[in-house]
Amino acid sequence: MSAYRGKYADELIKNASYIGTPGKGILAADESTGTIGKRLASISVENVETNRRALRELLFTAPGGLQYLSGVILFEETLYQKTASGKPFVDVLNEGGVLPGIKVDKGTVELAGTNGETTTQGLDGLAERCQKYYAAGARFAKWRAVLKIGANEPSQLAINENANGLARYAIICQENGLVPIVEPEILVDGAHDIYKCADVTERVLAACYKALNDHHVLLEGTLLKPNMVTPGSDSPKVGPNVIAEYTVRALQRAVPPAVPAVVFLSGGQSEEEATLNLNAMNKLSTKKPWSLSFSFGRALQQSTIKAWAGKEENVEKAQATFLGRAKANSEATVGTYQGGAALSDGASESLHVKDYKY
Ligand code: 13P
Repeated sequence: MSAYRGKYADELIKNASYIGTPGKGILAADESTGTIGKRLASISVENVETNRRALRELLFTAPGGLQYLSGVILFEETLYQKTASGKPFVDVLNEGGVLPGIKVDKGTVELAGTNGETTTQGLDGLAERCQKYYAAGARFAKWRAVLKIGANEPSQLAINENANGLARYAIICQENGLVPIVEPEILVDGAHDIYKCADVTERVLAACYKALNDHHVLLEGTLLKPNMVTPGSDSPKVGPNVIAEYTVRALQRAVPPAVPAVVFLSGGQSEEEATLNLNAMNKLSTKKPWSLSFSFGRALQQSTIKAWAGKEENVEKAQATFLGRAKANSEATVGTYQGGAALSDGASESLHVKDYKY
């Protein structure tokens, strides 16, 4: 049988391609309740529904912010929330030309007999949840698979298990109208060099596309969310041009041109690093059959959360900070970012968290 040709095929292709519109990208605001709690704790704000809602409202209603976005990934709680004045977030996003997305995985568990490698859970009942989320307005989904680099990692078991999990998730999403973001994140943790990261990224992506093909996933109706190819967090840094060259080459070797867009995670890079690296990729003159954009969580929110500090009187300043970062990343999707956006607000701070859980 060939790739998915069911009733949602045209809509999936249209939505995936829209998300990849040059000049736009994705805000990953789908932190689980535990993860958002850590962000709120960093500004001494209590992790309760009203505060989580207030932060999301600040982001989604930042004046002028939505023009730089084509999608926002939400956590289930946020999909059903409203602004303080009673407007559903889904309506705010739709009116701004932004597609609501939804995180559908249920986190990772350890693979027995491995050195701390994991697989992602959440396939049970996934079709029903996708139907419910589609009815609530979601049009794309995210599932984060996590791999790590070590002396013997990623193991073939972890590569196969995660590739198959992503493929099974992807086809279930498509059968229920959601564009799947395929996210095989290779953690930056470690002392490896950029060559090792490139090699592992190519192997992991190749396995993912083999599995997606085996599962009859319609690639035109998917998005890829990979890590950038960089040296490990305990190795000396390299410049954006080097990262751009190795990252685009890994994609050229493993990602079919049928995929409309690659939307990178920021993976603990500082806000400014993530933007400069994306910009460098879009400036590279080489074969790039996909649009290259962002789906940043930490690198779009860190300085905004700091500027907000949970205080009503700071909302305007925080929204201006968010606008600065969103505009910078929008420019990076077309290679015109000049650098230096909002540098005084902690945009150069490393956002690396060891063994990151979402
Ligand atoms: P970061 O950009 O903070 O790595 O997170 C993006 C994301 O959605 C990870 O799944």
